[in-house]
Amino acid sequence: MIKYLPETATVVLEEIPDKVTLAVEITNCQGHCEDCHSPHLRDDLGEELTPAKIDALFGDNFGVNCFLFLGEGKDVDALLKLVKHINKKYPSIEVALYSGLHHTDERVWDYFDYVKTGPYKAELGPLNKPTTNQRMYLLERGKGKGSAIDITERFWHGGIEGRQDGRGG
Ligand code: SF4
Repeated sequence: MIKYLPETATVVLEEIPDKVTLAVEITNCQGHCEDCHSPHLRDDLGEELTPAKIDALFGDNFGVNCFLFLGEGKDVDALLKLVKHINKKYPSIEVALYSGLHHTDERVWDYFDYVKTGPYKAELGPLNKPTTNQRMYLLERGKGKGSAIDITERFWHGGIEGRQDGRGG
């Protein structure tokens, strides 16, 4: 099961380059960022995120062209079920994952269009700092990690500001 915080779901413009993104905070974070500033996202909070709730979120936020999971929770099978639902029902909508982990499950690379990896380290800074350890990858759907292109630099020069933690929580 994947759980999210319904009250913080929001449309954002800065998280994914050139996208109008519906961002949803996922709880049960399995990250261990020493500098975590959203420790509540490590807890078992919120409601189950289901395909029907994703449909409702799209209904309430017409015009978005990207869906962002701010975190991957602790159930990758459930996460994959949700991203596959979006891929199939909303083929024109891109899907992104902010993971706070060094290595996400290999399977996620086949279904997401963007994957952000790496824990948040305050001394290195977030995605919009050239010193950051975090990385944002653009993927070709269905082609896995081998198709990943590192687009982190786009956050350094274009005025795009990444969130301030490992996954945006
Ligand atoms: S990924 Fe985000 S919520 Fe998870 S430990 Fe790191 S900073 Fe905290």
